[in-house]
Amino acid sequence: MGKVVGIDLGTTNSVVAVMEGGKPVVIANSEGMRTTPSVVGFNKDGELVVGQMARRQAVLNPQNTYYGVKRFMGRKYPELTPESKQVPYTIRRDEYGSIKIKCPRLKKDFAPEEISAKILRKLAEEAERYLGEPVTGAVITVPAYFNDSQRQATRDAGRIAGLEVLRIINEPTAASLAYGLDQERSQKILVFDLGGGTFDVSVLEVGDGVFEVRATSGDTQLGGGDFDKRIVDWLAEQFLEQEKVDLRKDRQALQRLTEAAEKAKIELSGVSVTDINLPFITATEEGSKHIETRLMRPQFEDLCGDLVSRLTRPIKRALNDARLTPVQIDEVVLVGGGTRMPMIKALVRSFIDKEPNENVNPDEVVAVGAAIQSGILAGEVKEILLLDVTPLSLGLETIGGVTKKLIPRNTTIPVRRSDIFSTGENNQTMVEVHVVQGEREMSKDNKSLGRFKLTGIPPAPRGIPQVQVAFDIDANGILQVTARDRTTGREQSVVVQGASTLSEGEINRMINEAAEFAEEDRQRRERIEKRNKAKALTDQALRRLKDVTLDFGTQFTSGYRRQIEALNAEIMDSLDKDDERRLDRAQADLEDVLYELKREVRLQYEDEEDEGIFDSIRRTLVGDDEDDYPYTPRGSSYGNDYDTPRYPERSDYGQPRYDERRYDERQTYGSPPSRYERNDRYDDEYDEWDSGDRPSPRSRRPSPEPRRYPPKDSDSYYTRDRSRRIPKENQWDEEDDDWF
Ligand code: ADP
Ligand code: MG
Repeated sequence: MGKVVGIDLGTTNSVVAVMEGGKPVVIANSEGMRTTPSVVGFNKDGELVVGQMARRQAVLNPQNTYYGVKRFMGRKYPELTPESKQVPYTIRRDEYGSIKIKCPRLKKDFAPEEISAKILRKLAEEAERYLGEPVTGAVITVPAYFNDSQRQATRDAGRIAGLEVLRIINEPTAASLAYGLDQERSQKILVFDLGGGTFDVSVLEVGDGVFEVRATSGDTQLGGGDFDKRIVDWLAEQFLEQEKVDLRKDRQALQRLTEAAEKAKIELSGVSVTDINLPFITATEEGSKHIETRLMRPQFEDLCGDLVSRLTRPIKRALNDARLTPVQIDEVVLVGGGTRMPMIKALVRSFIDKEPNENVNPDEVVAVGAAIQSGILAGEVKEILLLDVTPLSLGLETIGGVTKKLIPRNTTIPVRRSDIFSTGENNQTMVEVHVVQGEREMSKDNKSLGRFKLTGIPPAPRGIPQVQVAFDIDANGILQVTARDRTTGREQSVVVQGASTLSEGEINRMINEAAEFAEEDRQRRERIEKRNKAKALTDQALRRLKDVTLDFGTQFTSGYRRQIEALNAEIMDSLDKDDERRLDRAQADLEDVLYELKREVRLQYEDEEDEGIFDSIRRTLVGDDEDDYPYTPRGSSYGNDYDTPRYPERSDYGQPRYDERRYDERQTYGSPPSRYERNDRYDDEYDEWDSGDRPSPRSRRPSPEPRRYPPKDSDSYYTRDRSRRIPKENQWDEEDDDWF
């Protein structure tokens, strides 16, 4: 079996961590970031992009870029609030009332589970790249307040991503698992997690290696994004008043407003005033319109007053359920980016008279906990026992529509509870078990998880038959309900599948589609790489021709010129017509011509070796291609063994540059970025480095002066080139000779 990773599948950001040598390690993605935006998109070529790349295309391609999809996981369309439907992409209700996300680019619809699966897949692949071995399983975290169907949906997403989901655990549980790793004395911990779209508060008791969740509460529809929205509305209202245009109706403008709002919010966590500038936000008859304004922290806090007070209710409830008063809390742990806002810290401080603990990195702690849980499951981490609880009460509907609770909320799981029920009418031969989840008295006010029937009850006066109904919740919080007629022994049971928004058939189809898509994606990437390679080869041929002409004159190259030009035309034409076979042939022919040209150039030099300047000339004419020759030698497999220099990957945010060696060696899937791209990047990089102390390949070129073409007098050029000396370290290395 392959590796098992821990994944924090967040609304806004996701993180993957793994146990390595008994320690949890957060894995940076190939962009060099330790958190990956939970954004999935399809670019203009219909290619899948996930994470930062997807986030970046959100403004230009809002209809095909999906963020915040976690809010839709395991929910039915009618359950959505009007607010949560306000996203720049299109969601619709399918014939079963489930949510589908439209993808105009691919002309198809996705279930939220499928979109989440793409994030999970990306993270698993990042981990595979890092580990150099397949990742087959995952422990995935969910907000503690997630109901059964949301957990099921998360599990389904994992399956669609090709992962065995070994355990679904609550985020605050994971956080405390990471936090409490070295805890010895018993402590009561309050975990306060304000993420991008969800809010959780949990009370845990930690000590002696036992983690017990005493209570959980929260709100699945409240998070940092709501704070952004306050700023968006504030900006949009002002604009509406001044310009009579509602920017929220324009997808692109809304996206830009949202991004600016989030940026402002984050800045206000550090400074007390921020400027918001959005040039060309829209155009009216009077011309382009801009937003240029300033937001002060107190003003922002005013805008969010009610959101902050909404946060207090779940805290109170969790404390009540745990039968604790605020003074009994030993530690407060802040989790999630939202807790960086001063008003949030102040709120927590005012509630629990304690300085919140910020030792734990709020962005990573959940994934770290998930990795530790995977270690526990694999037997790598011992002496820790994790006790989780049900977030909501579970029961069934009885006469008059009243809910009879079988398992009250905050019961430690796994758990099994049963009770005896009877018939409500004489000679009733069938009972319907309607399973509900929630705290309300009347079943219709709770969430219906599913119904099933137990038939074949022998006719009897009402109240006589005895039907035993048992609820089993496994360690993942997934419920199985069994009803048994005590007289006949007839039994009927269901794993509450109604909770999942997808049927088994649909999941299987999606698993297959995801695999197919990956294959299609790979093929498309290969095609693009091939095209880039071909184009680069034609450029290369022209450059080579030019160099040789400069040195040996047009006479020498005229035959080659004809061949190269014809083959270049052939390549371009087959690219236009998408004729792969012709392309392959023309490319191979062109490589042959270049090889021949190179050989002849070398022969010319053999006579001149005695002159002692062999190195410099050969370097001039054939050597510097080593740096920018963008295609693979024929006969070597394209993929892992680069013969071109290793280029550091660019990474944003001033992060350390990516470890290139590892990138190359560990790249065990897919294909590397095309060389064409790498060369572009490489040129930029070196231009930047020119001022530094890195050797620039440009400086290796023996001829810094631009050459004129066509040369008036090629001989004089030749002479000049020959007289130039190359520094020792830049000289042609004999071993690299046969790179063709
Ligand atoms: P999730 O668990 O939902 O994926 P995160 O824990 O990553 O979310 O938190 C993301 C939220 O935190 C976003 O709304 C983001 O704007 C917000 N956030 C991140 N940094 C800050 C900050 N410095 N101040 C305020 N909010 C922040
Ligand atoms: Mg989170």
